[in-house]
Amino acid sequence: MPTPDEDLLIEDAIGQRKSQKRGYNLFAILSVAAVFAAVGWLLVFWLRPMIKSIPFLPLGSVTTSLLVGGVIAFAIAGLLIAGAYFAANPWARWGDAVSGTCPLCGKRSLRQEKVEHAAWQEGHPEAGIKKGPRGIVTLCETPGCGYATAKVTRSSGE
Ligand SMILES: [Zn+2]
Repeated sequence: MPTPDEDLLIEDAIGQRKSQKRGYNLFAILSVAAVFAAVGWLLVFWLRPMIKSIPFLPLGSVTTSLLVGGVIAFAIAGLLIAGAYFAANPWARWGDAVSGTCPLCGKRSLRQEKVEHAAWQEGHPEAGIKKGPRGIVTLCETPGCGYATAKVTRSSGE
């Protein structure tokens, strides 16, 4: 039976892995990037030439700011796509690969990571973040395999 400290660390590790897998919602990021790219395109290639084509209007500064706004929108779209690419990077996974096979499913899919549990002390928010247990958690990556162990290197009492 795992101790309460080990349970805490395993829970934290599973939470970390989940949030990393979800990462950013790739589809949402790409949609936002598409919106920015569309806005940039409209500003630079549609609105700006349209205003420019109106004769006898002193709108030089307006078309310049449209160009700048369009370029900024394009830059944001590019950054979002770069960020999405990084988030979807298969190497950005939780933990480091561990040698050996999983005792539950027999596959070479164990990964481990140092985990430190930080928690607010109940009833004493002024005390700040309580130092929780720290340890090394090993999780199995096989879908459906619930193998998880924790080795506590500092228990919560210390
Ligand atoms: Zn397994």
